[in-house]
Amino acid sequence: MRFRLLILATVAALCAGFWWNWGQRTEFVLGGAMVNIGYRLQDRLPEYDLTHHHLSPQQVWDEFLGQNRLASSVRFYLPRSVMHPVVALVACMDGRLDTNEIVGDTRRFYYVLRTAGSVLSIKEEEMLELTVSNGVKVVVFTTHTDCAAEKAARDPAKRALYPQLAAAVDERKARFEEFLVRPAIKERIGKGELLVKWMDINTATERVEEHHEVTSH
Ligand SMILES: [Zn+2]
Repeated sequence: MRFRLLILATVAALCAGFWWNWGQRTEFVLGGAMVNIGYRLQDRLPEYDLTHHHLSPQQVWDEFLGQNRLASSVRFYLPRSVMHPVVALVACMDGRLDTNEIVGDTRRFYYVLRTAGSVLSIKEEEMLELTVSNGVKVVVFTTHTDCAAEKAARDPAKRALYPQLAAAVDERKARFEEFLVRPAIKERIGKGELLVKWMDINTATERVEEHHEVTSH
C-alpha cells in the first residue's frame, strides 16, 4: 500500500513538474510572439522608420531623440532587469543584423559587442575577458554572409579607400586566436568553465551555423 502511494505521489510530482515547465515554455514563446507582433505593427509605419524618407540629418536626429525619450520613459514603469549576462555575443556592426532577431531577447543575458567586420582589437579582447570574469560562460564570436567589411578587404579599389578596415579584416582570425590563448581565457576553457564558439550568421535568414574557414576568395 505504501509502495503504491509512493508511486502515485511520484507520478503526481512528475506531472506537476511537466505542467509547470510546459506552462513556463508557453509563456516564454508567447512573450516572444508578442514582441514580434509589436515589431510587425511598428515596421508598417514608415513615418517612424527613419530610412524610407528624404529626411534631413537634423530631422533624423530629432526623430532619434524623440524615440529615445519615448522608449526610455517606458523604463519608469517597467524598470530594467539587473540580471547578469552569461553570454557575450560578438557581431559585425552591419545594420541588417539584429541581435534581438538572431537570439530573441538580448537585454538580460547577453553582452553584445559590435565591431566593424567582427574584428577584435586588444581593448575588445580585454573587455571580453572582463565579461568572463563577471560571469560569462559562453562567448559567441560571429561573422556573417555578405559582409561589407569582408567585401572591402577583397576589393583592391576599396582596400585603397579603407586600408585600416581591410587590414583589420585580414587579421580577424589571428585576433580571435589571440583571444583564445589569453591566460585567463585559456585556463577557463581548459577547466570547462568557458565555451568560445565561432559561428557564421546567414544575413538573410539570421540562422547561426558553425563557422567553416573559407580558404580562397
Ligand atoms: Zn559585416
